[in-house]
Amino acid sequence: MPNAVPDFAVAVVGAGPAGFYAAAALLAPPEPRVRVDMYERLPTPWGLVRAGVAPDHPKIKSISAQFARTATHERFRWFGNVEVGTTVSREELLARYDAVVYCVGSPADRDLHIPGADRPGSVGARDFVGWYNGHPDFRALTFDLQVSRAVIVGHGNVALDVARILSTPPDRLAATDIADHALVALRASRIRDVLVIGRRGPAQASFTTPELRELGELTGADVIVDPAQLGPPDADADLPHVPRHNLEVLRRYAAAEPAGTGRRITLRFLTSPIEIRGRDRVESVVLGRNRLLDPGDGAATAIDTGEREELAAGLVLRAVGYRGVPIPGVPFDDRAGLVPNVEGRVLGGDREYVAGWIKRGPSGIIGTNKKCATDTVHTLLADLASTPGASTRPAAADPGAIEAWLRRRQPDLVDLDGWTAIDTAELRAGAPLGRPRVKVCTWRELLATARTVPV
Ligand SMILES: Cc1cc2nc3c(=O)[nH]c(=O)nc-3n(C[C@H](O)[C@H](O)[C@H](O)COP(=O)(O)OP(=O)(O)OC[C@H]3O[C@@H](n4cnc5c(N)ncnc54)[C@H](O)[C@@H]3O)c2cc1C
Repeated sequence: MPNAVPDFAVAVVGAGPAGFYAAAALLAPPEPRVRVDMYERLPTPWGLVRAGVAPDHPKIKSISAQFARTATHERFRWFGNVEVGTTVSREELLARYDAVVYCVGSPADRDLHIPGADRPGSVGARDFVGWYNGHPDFRALTFDLQVSRAVIVGHGNVALDVARILSTPPDRLAATDIADHALVALRASRIRDVLVIGRRGPAQASFTTPELRELGELTGADVIVDPAQLGPPDADADLPHVPRHNLEVLRRYAAAEPAGTGRRITLRFLTSPIEIRGRDRVESVVLGRNRLLDPGDGAATAIDTGEREELAAGLVLRAVGYRGVPIPGVPFDDRAGLVPNVEGRVLGGDREYVAGWIKRGPSGIIGTNKKCATDTVHTLLADLASTPGASTRPAAADPGAIEAWLRRRQPDLVDLDGWTAIDTAELRAGAPLGRPRVKVCTWRELLATARTVPV
């Protein structure tokens, strides 16, 4: 078996789409033979496919079956509950692998710099999304849903996800894998009026058309759009594909008679939050009206007109984007919130690479990460091939020694068997209820379940 020993060992950090696409690309070519160890801080894999994608999007989540196939490759191992930068250091990985690929995503919220932004009741979308998706870091959060109006700041798909979850009849959500604690809270919710604001116009919003269409379809709520905000229809023809189709959907919403379901989602454009007010917690939001300065080069800017309106609201959800967080020792561009790189090779790094959101910033759908990760792997393999005397580092040649070191460092290491135990328990709990799964949502229960042996 002359080819049995892999030529190189690569650590992939992060088990989201970028990590799995990178792993698949590393394992694919006949030469060189690469062994992949994937490190993930959570006891569960799939990144935002599990913890970000909305529970009412089961088809999108099914991409995890493809990642699960990669995980069965004979040269692949998965180490969950290992945070690189905390449990083990970047330097320790570099000593054990020929290269490290960071696929750690953009786990922090971008800030909203307005007075009152951190008043209780003003919440980052990351927290709310993590909470309803059963991410164990957010299990203990509580949100006051005993208010009648929520304002969502942001005009991207995450804002629409959050608006849908707040507006969908809970019985519909009960058929999904939404976290049980969120379902209980949403059943008791009194929110009937959701306002989604964006600072620029309808042609500049970052929604995708299917998400916009689903807003009415999946929630059954009245979606309210002021036709005056959409401008004359004859201008639509000159727009690029996505905004043109978005405007088609928005015009349908604007023309529809409200069905009077008692639940409303209003999409408002050219509107910025100016201040979040309240005594102990959010009671109102001061909204500012903008006009658009459009030089016609695609870089339309919102200009404050000075007009103000104060609107009563008990919950503000800030969905203005995500940003990366640094890993100790790995170069980081704090302004851009990502790891500086050229074609995936970390600028100023040592055999270090990036893929996914931490490489390009938090935009793009799951599939966008495939080309992104494959491009990075091409850079990495070309570097390995051109390294004089390229060979496996001594420590990389001994996978058993790496695992023994890791188990000493993290006695609660969750390997693929551990994840299979969690997965099986969740699927089994869901089956009798007609749900895809019932998620295990606390660190303690996840680690305890990982130690069980499914029969
Ligand atoms: C709320 C939300 C909804 C979305 N919905 C959709 C959708 O419906 N359809 C669609 O196509 N796209 C959707 N997306 C986009 C999609 O999720 C992203 O394109 C994709 O997940 C980015 O992949 P990634 O691997 O770069 O990051 P992530 O998916 O975030 O994966 C990063 C992984 O790295 C781990 N990690 C982080 N730091 C460390 C560390 N130090 N050590 C070890 N592990 C670490 C994290 O725990 C995580 O598992 C959504 C995004 C969000 C935020």
